[in-house]
Amino acid sequence: MGEVSREIQPMTPCIFCNIVNGSAPSSKVYEDEICLAFMDIQPVNPGHILVVPKVHFRDLADLPAQIGAHIFQIAQRIALCMPNTDVKNEGIDFFLAHGEAAGQEVFHVHLHVIPRYKSDGFGFTFGLNYKNLPERHELDAIAVQIKQQLEK
Ligand code: 5GP
Ligand code: ZN
Repeated sequence: MGEVSREIQPMTPCIFCNIVNGSAPSSKVYEDEICLAFMDIQPVNPGHILVVPKVHFRDLADLPAQIGAHIFQIAQRIALCMPNTDVKNEGIDFFLAHGEAAGQEVFHVHLHVIPRYKSDGFGFTFGLNYKNLPERHELDAIAVQIKQQLEK
């Protein structure tokens, strides 16, 4: 189990670890040996769910790929259940923040499953440059760098 040995326990108790071990309350949606899904305490919209690995992984850098794949699979199942519930949803967003600059506030990997509907008021805000499409050579330059890294 080399992958799991990457787990590093945080110095202070992690709220999601406490939810997993039952010492903090949660409204559970799904549980198996690898992950837990529960209602977000401050939902963007009603039905907002978090899917977390049971083992503490700080962010994507620590998360074993097969656990990430499992979390995605469970989130997909949850998303596809949503139309059969009373939750208002015309669509679903998945969101995972990796790092503080990306909006990560709880440093225990979690995948948000967010029911969406038109006029719900939620959305990304775009920077001033968003409307200026980059030149092809600029896209290519970044693509080459990432491709090189993936090939390592
Ligand atoms: P992040 O910004 O790290 O991607 O998202 C953290 C999420 O965790 C937020 O949506 C926040 O509402 C949720 N959250 C923080 N503390 C708790 C908690 O104690 N219980 C539950 N259920 N959700 C929490
Ligand atoms: Zn944790």
